[in-house]
Amino acid sequence: MSRFLLIGPPGAGKGTQATLLAQAYSIPAISTGDIFRANVKAETPLGVEAKGFMDRGEYVPDSLTNDLVRDRLAQQDALAGFLLDGYPRTRDQVLELDDILGSDNNELDSVILLKADPDELVRRLLNRAKEQGRADDTEEVIRHRQTVYLDQTAPLIEIYSARGIVVEIDGLGQVGEVTERILNALTARGLSPAI
Ligand code: ADP
Repeated sequence: MSRFLLIGPPGAGKGTQATLLAQAYSIPAISTGDIFRANVKAETPLGVEAKGFMDRGEYVPDSLTNDLVRDRLAQQDALAGFLLDGYPRTRDQVLELDDILGSDNNELDSVILLKADPDELVRRLLNRAKEQGRADDTEEVIRHRQTVYLDQTAPLIEIYSARGIVVEIDGLGQVGEVTERILNALTARGLSPAI
C-alpha cells in the first residue's frame, strides 16, 4: 500500500515524475490539473466552471476540487494506493484529504517535495508553452501561478513536515536522475517499490 503526494512549484516537473513513480509502484497517478484540463476540453459543466480560474492562473474553488478528489479516490484502482499530483494545494484541501483518508484509516506515507530554482521554472514553463500550447503558460500567468503557489501552497509543507513525512528532492537535472533521487529517498524510508 503506497500513498504519496507530490508537491512543488509550477514547472518543477511533478507531472513527469508522477507518471514514472506511479509506474514504479503500480499505483494510479491522480493529477487534478489533468482532470480539470480533460473536463475543459470536453466542455463538461465542471470544465466550464474551472476554465476561467485556470486561464487566469487562479486555483479552482475548493468546493469543486474536493468533491472531484473524493470521487476519484473512491474508485477501485485507488484503493490499493495512489500518487496525488497537484492536490492538496490549500489548507482546506489538506483538511479534506485528512477526512477522506481518515475515514478509512489510511494515512499518507510520504509527501515528495520537488524543489527548483524560480528562474529555471519560468524557463521550463515558457518552453512547455511553445510545445504544448497550454493556455496558462504565458509569462504573466506563470508569474501569477508562482505567487499563488507561494501564498497558498508552500505553507502546506510545514503542515506535512510537522508530521515527519516530507521528503525533499532537488528537481534540477535529467528526468531520470530526479526519478532516481526520489526512488532512493523513498527506499531509504522503507517505501521501496515492489519488484
Ligand atoms: P502546475 O503544476 O503547472 O501549476 P497543474 O496542471 O497542476 O499545473 O494545474 C493547472 C491548474 O489547474 C492550476 O493552476 C489550477 O487552476 C487548477 N488546479 C489543479 N489542481 C488544483 C487544486 N488542487 N486546487 C485548485 N486548483 C487546482
